[in-house]
Amino acid sequence: MTIEDEPDRNPWYYDILNYLQHGKFPQGCEEVDKKYLRKLASKFFVSRSVLYKRSHDSILLKCVDAKEASQLMQEIHEGECGPHMNGHLLARKIMRLGYYWLMMETDCIKHVCYCHQCQIYGDKINAQPNELHLMTQPWPFSMWGIDVMA
Ligand SMILES: [Zn+2]
Repeated sequence: MTIEDEPDRNPWYYDILNYLQHGKFPQGCEEVDKKYLRKLASKFFVSRSVLYKRSHDSILLKCVDAKEASQLMQEIHEGECGPHMNGHLLARKIMRLGYYWLMMETDCIKHVCYCHQCQIYGDKINAQPNELHLMTQPWPFSMWGIDVMA
């Protein structure tokens, strides 16, 4: 269900929208799937053929397809004033702007991983802050020391 995964060329929300608008289930759908779709659809809302997701604070988020989602991630992460935030923040920012798609958190994290500038200019957290200095001692056991492993 990731945004890249749209094999039948319909957006990911096609079945939900179809069910809410016409009460129809996809062809060859089993009872378990119907039950799941009914439950899933109860979290969505349709207005003028546009599907919205009800968020936990009852704000309506517009459901977007793969193309729009990809544009949103690009524009907000590395666009004009894009701060190159991490994937979790990117997903939260997109939700605050009123957009939604399934697996948006996963997609945002993946998007940030492929951002060229983040790879080059991001913090190198594995590098030590400064060089290590060896402490020399005049004879064995003249000093005590503690090694701190983190
Ligand atoms: Zn970036």
